[in-house]
Amino acid sequence: MLKQLIVLLLVVGSIAPLHSQSLYTPREIQKAYNQATRSPDGKPGKNYWQNYGRYNIQVTALPPDRTIKGTEQITYVNNSPDTLKSLNMKLIINIHRPGAARVRPADDDYLTPGMQIDAFTVNTQPIKWNNHKANSTNQEVKLPTPLLPHDSVKLDIAFHYEISLKSGREGMIDPNTFYLAYFYPRVSVYDDYNGWDKLEFTDYQEFYNDFNDYTLKITVPKDYVVWATGTLQNPKEVLQPEFAKRLQASFTSDSTIHVATLADMTSKKVTQQNATNTWVWTAGNISDMAVGISDHYVWDAASVLVDDATHRRASMQAAFADTSKDFHRSVQNGRNALNLLSHQWPGVPYPFPKMTAFQGEADMEYPMMVNDNSDKDLRFAQFVQDHEIAHTYFPFYMGINESRYAFMDEGWATTMELLMATTEIGKAAAEAAYKKFRVKDWTANATTSQELPIITPSNEQKAGYGNNAYVKPSLSYLALKEMLGDDLFKKCLHTYMDRWNGKHPMPWDYFNTMNDASGKKLNWFFNNWFFTHNYIDLKIAGVSNNAGVYQISIDNVGGFAIPYDIIVSYTDGSWDSFHQSPAVWEVNQKNMVLNVKGVKTIKSVKLESGIFMDANEKDNVWVAK
Ligand SMILES: [Zn+2]
Repeated sequence: MLKQLIVLLLVVGSIAPLHSQSLYTPREIQKAYNQATRSPDGKPGKNYWQNYGRYNIQVTALPPDRTIKGTEQITYVNNSPDTLKSLNMKLIINIHRPGAARVRPADDDYLTPGMQIDAFTVNTQPIKWNNHKANSTNQEVKLPTPLLPHDSVKLDIAFHYEISLKSGREGMIDPNTFYLAYFYPRVSVYDDYNGWDKLEFTDYQEFYNDFNDYTLKITVPKDYVVWATGTLQNPKEVLQPEFAKRLQASFTSDSTIHVATLADMTSKKVTQQNATNTWVWTAGNISDMAVGISDHYVWDAASVLVDDATHRRASMQAAFADTSKDFHRSVQNGRNALNLLSHQWPGVPYPFPKMTAFQGEADMEYPMMVNDNSDKDLRFAQFVQDHEIAHTYFPFYMGINESRYAFMDEGWATTMELLMATTEIGKAAAEAAYKKFRVKDWTANATTSQELPIITPSNEQKAGYGNNAYVKPSLSYLALKEMLGDDLFKKCLHTYMDRWNGKHPMPWDYFNTMNDASGKKLNWFFNNWFFTHNYIDLKIAGVSNNAGVYQISIDNVGGFAIPYDIIVSYTDGSWDSFHQSPAVWEVNQKNMVLNVKGVKTIKSVKLESGIFMDANEKDNVWVAK
C-alpha cells in the first residue's frame, strides 16, 4: 500500500519519570547484594557460592513388588561462609503419607506410608531417626559436629518406600511399569538469600535443587529395561549384544531405530538373562535423577546434531506402550524439538547428552527425561512433549527456584512452546493454539487471584498459580522480545543464561541482567508486568480531528504494556495498520495518542492485539457517526 500519510506519535497526559524507577527488592535480596553474593548489575556477585553433593545411589525395584529399596552415600560440601549445625533433608515421597499437607485431596490409591529411613549415619556415626515423627517432606538432621565452611560431611542412608498404585509425577504406571522420581533422600538447597529451603511440597508448586554429581545403580529383574537420567555406563552387561548394538547405532542415526520392538520384548531376549541386572547411570552437574522401568514398553531411539561448533549429537529416546500412536512419533518429534531449541530459541546447544520421553501420567519434566500422557490428538502430544523438553533450559540448565518463582521456568517453557510451534505448524495456527490453550481462560477469569502480581511467591498462591506461572510471564517475555527486537532480546537472554547456568538465579538477577545487557532502562517494563495487578484491556477513548490531524486516543484500562495494532479504515475503502511496540507505554502507562495527519477521512478505527487477548473487545472499535 502506498503511504501518503505522515504519522506522528505524540504522548499526552501526565509525564512521570517511570523510566528511572527502581524495582521492589525484598530485604532477603537486598541482603544478598550487601554480602556481594549477587550483584545489582545482574551478575553473580564476587562472593557467590552454592553447595554441592556427590550422590552414589543403589536402588532395587522388583516389579510387580511395589517396594523400592535403596542405599545411598552422599558427600555434601558446604561452600557457604556459614557453619551448619544441622542439615535439612528433602523427602518428597512423603507427599503420599495420609497426613501430608496437600493442596488438593488425594485418592486412596495415592496414599502410602511414605519414605522410610532404615539407617542414617553422619561420618559413620548413626543418627536416631523417627519415621513417624512427621508427615513433612522436610526433616531436619542435627549434625553430631557442626559442618564448617568449606568442609564436607558424609551421609550413609538406607531407605525404602512403597511406590503408589496411583501415579502422579511418579508412581506405578501399570503393575510392570514404574516411574521413580524424587525417590531418594536428598539434602535441601542451602542458599545465600534464604538459608535452608524448608518449603513443604504440597503436590503443586515444583522443585528447587542443587547441582550434584550422580552415580545411580538400578537393579531390576531380567527382561526389565531401565531408562534414566544420565549416560548408561554398562549397556553390554545388561543388554544382549544385538540390542546394545542397536542402541549404539542410534547415537549416530537421524532415522528412528527400534531398539526393542514389542516382539523383542515379548520374546524376552532383550536383556541379559541373569536373575537380576544392575543398570549403571552417571550424570554430572545435574539437579536430579529420574528412572523409568518396564518389561513391555517398546524402545525407540535416534539422535540429532545439537552443537554445530563441536558436531555434538544428543540422543533422543522413547519408551512407551506399543498401542500409543503418538509415542511412535516421539523420537522424531523430540529430534525436531532438540534441533529448534539448540538452533532457534533459546538458540543454546542442548546442554545434555540425552533426552528420553517416557509414557506415564504426569506431563512433567525431569532432567534428560519427560513423563507424558499418551494423547489421541497427535499434534497436542507433540505440543506437550515440546513444552516438557523445553524445560531442559529452565529449570534444569538454569537452577531456578521453582518452588518460589515458577514463572522463571514455566513462563519460559510456555514461550518456547509457542516459538517451536510457529516453526512446526506456522504462525497463525501456533498463535491460535496458544490463545486457545493458554491465554483465553485467563483473559476471561476476572478474579483477584489471577491478578496477583507475577512476582507473588508461587508457594503463596493457589487459584492464581497457573496464570501467574505460565501465561502472564510468557506474555511478558514475548512483549519484551517484540520491544527489543529478536537480535537484542536474544543477546540479553544469552547473557542471562551464560551468567546463571548451573547456578541459582532469582527474578532480580533476570531483571538486572536484561537491563545491563540491553543497555536500556527496562525497570518501568518489569514493574508494569511483574509487580502490578495489571491485566490486558485497551479502549479507544476517542477520535477527534483538529485542523486536519486526527487524534486517536487509547486508554490502557488493564495496564499491561502490550504491543498492538491500530487499524484505521478510510471512507475511500483503503486502510492502514499502525503497529505499536510495548515501548509506547514507557512514559504514560494509562493513555497514548496516535496522531494521523492526512488527506483521507477516517471511517473507523479498530485495535488488534493478537495473542495479547483483550478482556473487553467491545470498546476496541470506533466508527465515525
Ligand atoms: Zn511446564
